[in-house]
This record gives sequence, C-alpha cells and structure tokens, in this order.
Amino acid sequence: MKIGFVGLGNMGAPMARNLLNAGHVLHVFDVSASAVQALVEAGAQAAVSPKAASAEAECVITMLPAAAHVKSVLTGDDGILAGIARGVAIVDSSTIDPASVKAFAALAQQQGNAFLDAPVSGGTGGAAAGTLTFMVGGSVEAYERVKPVLSAMGGNIVHCGDTGTGQVAKICNNLVLGITMAGVAEGMALGEALGIDPKVLAGIMNTSTGRCWSSDTYNPFPGVIDAAPSSRGYTGGFGTDLMLKDLGLATDAAKLVRQPVFLGALAQQLYQAMSTNGAGKLDFSSVIRLYRRDDAAT
Ligand code: NAD
Repeated sequence: MKIGFVGLGNMGAPMARNLLNAGHVLHVFDVSASAVQALVEAGAQAAVSPKAASAEAECVITMLPAAAHVKSVLTGDDGILAGIARGVAIVDSSTIDPASVKAFAALAQQQGNAFLDAPVSGGTGGAAAGTLTFMVGGSVEAYERVKPVLSAMGGNIVHCGDTGTGQVAKICNNLVLGITMAGVAEGMALGEALGIDPKVLAGIMNTSTGRCWSSDTYNPFPGVIDAAPSSRGYTGGFGTDLMLKDLGLATDAAKLVRQPVFLGALAQQLYQAMSTNGAGKLDFSSVIRLYRRDDAAT
C-alpha cells in the first residue's frame, strides 16, 4: 500500500520502518530533516510537507507529540486535508484528548475521509519489535480497512468503539498505571523503612493481592527486577513527563464529564513535583524517590 507517514520520532520512526519491512511504500514527513533522512536511508521517500506525504496515499498515519501538532499537520495550508484523496483513511496514533479526536474526525468527515484514533501502548521497544497494542476508535468499516496496515506495527489491534474510544482506553489505562506505580512505590519504601528485604517484600506482593504490572514487571525499587528501569538509574523507560501528560489528559477528560478522579489527580501532583524537581526525563517509576530517605539517589 502507498502510505503517508508524518512524525518520525521515538515511536514513529520504528513504526515506519516496520511498514517498510512489510513491503509498503512510504512517503514520510517530519519537521526534523535528520529524522526524514534516516527513514529515506531505510527505503522511504521524503515528502516536503504533510500535504505532499498524503497526495498519493491510500492510508495516512500520524505519530505526533500532542493535539496541537496533530491539528496543524491536519489542517494547515500544507496539511494532510489539503492533499489527501477522498475516501482515504487517516490514522492518528498520537496520545491526545478524546474531544480533539472528535473535532478532527468531523473535519475529515466533511471532505469524505475517515479519521481513526489509534493510540498505542508498548513503548519504543514494542514499536521496534512490531508488537504494539493499537486501541482504535472509529467506524468498523474504516477499522477493517486499516487493520492489515496496523498489523505490520502491532501484535494486538483492538477496535474499542466509536471515534475517541481508542484514546479513552489509552488514558484510562495510563491513569491506573500512574496510580499503581505510586502505590507500589509507597509500599516498597515503607517496607524498606520498616526493615524488610525489598526482594522478599516484592516476592510476597507478587504472590499476594498487591500484585500488578508495577510490582511484578516494572518494580520501582532498584535491584528487585534486573530488566526494569529502576535497576539502571531510571533511564530508558517511560518518561515522567509522558506519564504527566497522560494523567493531564485523563483529569481534563474527567472534568468535561464531571467525573471524580481522586487518586489520578493526586498521582498527577506526584509526577508534577518530580518533573519540577528535574526528573521529567527519568522513568516514571522514579516516583519512589519521593518516598525514600538519604539513599534515594541510588
Ligand atoms: P517524539 O517527540 O519522539 O516524536 C514526535 C515527532 O513529531 C518528532 O520527530 C517531531 O519532530 C515530529 N513533529 C513535531 N511537530 C511536527 C509537525 N508539525 N510536523 C511534522 N512532524 C512534527 O514523540 P514519541 O515518543 O514518538 O511519541 C509520539 C506520541 O506517541 C506521543 O503522543 C506520545 O504520548 C505517544 N506515545 C509515546 C510512547 C513512548 O514510549 N515514547 C509510548 C506510547 C505512546
């Protein structure tokens, strides 16, 4: 298939590579010339704008930081909607708010294009391995059409419902993750202060009712799980600032429907404090440093 791809960052670049590996023809655009060049070396064709990337496309994919970037890429003079043929589906895999998705989908619909929200989980590792989970919102018909394309980048492609529900799934999951990570950090730090071996405590949690992904796969206490970011100085994982962004999307969405998110709002403040203190680029499991004493920097 001829695919337009806009946004070749930490996630977009490996996703685009997997599309090339699957035999698709890619026209790519990013404001970073070096990001485009790297993909051209992998076999993609450079486009001078989102409009140019979309001109011949049978499907267009965007992977951008936030809603403002998606809006400009979509609706700018050189944007996707200015170049795309009628009937071609637009898939946005950025993590953005469900209300913006609905507005973008309405604009696309006005000129005969389906717009699917398809945020992902699995991180940069999943993007490179082609094992991402895609949470897709939009019409079943458009979903069925783009599913083979998404399958080249992901191992689990799920239709969540109408427009915006992909983002709903994503931000609700990350709301829970932000809370459970803070909860496990609190329990592990309390155990340390009360004198139990952290590995013994984690072992008990992981065979008891406290078990969750934050305790058994990504434990925030250093040295408990060798492969977790906590065991390598909280580098190379899911950044605190990205978690903060997702919790902001969740609490903003909650406000729109007057739904309480007591723990999510508290978790948001914890990650905000970390970011303010310079830990924004560290993995979000470094939230445990808010709880540990003098050895917190270890
Ligand atoms: P990133 O910042 O690494 O990449 C974004 C890319 O978009 C950059 O290459 C940037 O140059 C490009 N860009 C920005 N404005 C542009 C514009 N106007 N036109 C064209 N290109 C433009 O971000 P990322 O880590 O790849 O994340 C992308 C999205 O995926 C975000 O919404 C993020 O929340 C989400 N996400 C990230 C992860 C992760 O682990 N990094 C995991 C799941 C979801």
